[in-house]
Amino acid sequence: MEAGLHGLLSTRIPVEEAATMLRQICQGERKFRFDTDLQAQTPPEPRLTRREQQVLAMVVDGLKNREIAAYFDSTVAEIGADYVNLETPEGPVQLKNDFVFAMTGYHPDYDFLRSMGIELSAEQCRPVCDPLTLESNVPGIYVAGVIVAGSRTNEIFIENGRFHGRQIAAHLKQTLSGT
Ligand SMILES: Cc1cc2nc3c(=O)[nH]c(=O)nc-3n(C[C@H](O)[C@H](O)[C@H](O)COP(=O)(O)OP(=O)(O)OC[C@H]3O[C@@H](n4cnc5c(N)ncnc54)[C@H](O)[C@@H]3O)c2cc1C
Repeated sequence: MEAGLHGLLSTRIPVEEAATMLRQICQGERKFRFDTDLQAQTPPEPRLTRREQQVLAMVVDGLKNREIAAYFDSTVAEIGADYVNLETPEGPVQLKNDFVFAMTGYHPDYDFLRSMGIELSAEQCRPVCDPLTLESNVPGIYVAGVIVAGSRTNEIFIENGRFHGRQIAAHLKQTLSGT
C-alpha cells in the first residue's frame, strides 16, 4: 500500500497463486489478472424472468423512497390500530399505518394434484403434462392456468394462461371425435 496501487487481483484465483502475485506486487511488479478463462469456469448466473426483472427494479426504486421502504430480515412484532411494530436487524421500528395488507404468498394445492395421480417435477412441482394439449400424465385430466408452471407462479398470468382452455378444448374435440 505504501508503494501505491500496482495491481489488481481477482478474488477467484487460487490462494497460493494470489499469495505469489501479492508478493510480486509488493516487490513493485504490476499484476493484472481478470482473465476470461477464470470467468468461464464460474457457473452462469440464473437468468431472471422479465417479471422478476420488473419486480427487482421496483424494489430498487422502493429502496430509494423512504415512504415505501423495505425492511429485509425483519419480522412483524405487533399490528396496532394505526401502527405496526417491527423487529429489524437494527432494532425495533414503529411505522404509522392506515391499512395493513398481509401479503404472505401462497402455493398451489400440490397434495390435491398428487392425490389425483398427477406427477409433479422434483424441482418446481410442475405437473407432468403434454405442453400442446395440457393433458397430464393421467389420461383425461388436464392442467390449466398458473398451475402449469408449478411453483413458478410468476411465469403464467392472465395474458398467457387464458389460451390454455383453447388448447384443452381442441384436444378434447379431437379425442371425442376420434380423429
Ligand atoms: C396481486 C396480483 C396481481 C396480478 N396482476 C395481474 C395482471 O395485471 N395481469 C395478469 O395477466 N395477471 C395478473 N396476476 C396473475 C393472475 O391473477 C393469475 O395468473 C391468474 O389469476 C391465474 O388464474 P388461474 O385460473 O390459473 O388460477 P387462480 O385464479 O389462482 O384460480 C385457482 C382457483 O382454484 C381454487 N382452488 C385451489 N385449490 C383448490 C382445491 N383443492 N379445490 C378446489 N378449488 C381449488 C382457488 O381457490 C382458485 O379459485 C396477478 C396476480 C396477483 C396475485
